Amino acid sequence: MRAGLHKPVETLDLGGMALAIYNQSQCALPPGTCPRIGIGGHASHGGFGYTCRLWGVTLDMIVALDVVLANGSFIHATETTYPDIYYALHGAADSFGIITTFHLQT
Ligand SMILES: Cc1cc2nc3c(=O)[nH]c(=O)nc-3n(C[C@H](O)[C@H](O)[C@H](O)COP(=O)(O)OP(=O)(O)OC[C@H]3O[C@@H](n4cnc5c(N)ncnc54)[C@H](O)[C@@H]3O)c2cc1C
Repeated sequence: MRAGLHKPVETLDLGGMALAIYNQSQCALPPGTCPRIGIGGHASHGGFGYTCRLWGVTLDMIVALDVVLANGSFIHATETTYPDIYYALHGAADSFGIITTFHLQT
């Protein structure tokens, strides 16, 4: 998990991620309301929380994804690099691959 331009966040749940981002940079993401939810399903399917009307949902903060596709290839998907896969991963990630790193803009 990478958040902003700072060092990787290794934790896999929303509460740990929010705390780590804040401790690193006093920044925040728009997360869901339950701290024990896993980031994988949450960020790749939406991510609605108290701040989403102001900041959007967690999924809106994704700027790039490292993903292993069904054919075994490993890619870095962005708006301009593998754009079709990048958009498919926004909401239907588990149908297309396994995300190993979320690059999120705080
Ligand atoms: C108590 C509770 C409170 C919740 N509160 C909120 C809330 O406030 N706001 C909100 O928006 N949602 C909320 N949810 C829903 C939650 O966001 C989803 O259940 C989300 O899918 C959880 O992610 P997970 O990784 O823990 O789930 P998992 O069950 O592990 O994964 C869900 C799906 O995502 C896929 N997936 C997971 N990780 C990856 C990955 N790295 N790459 C590709 N596919 C992956 C899995 O294959 C699976 O199909 C809540 C759920 C619970 C149980």
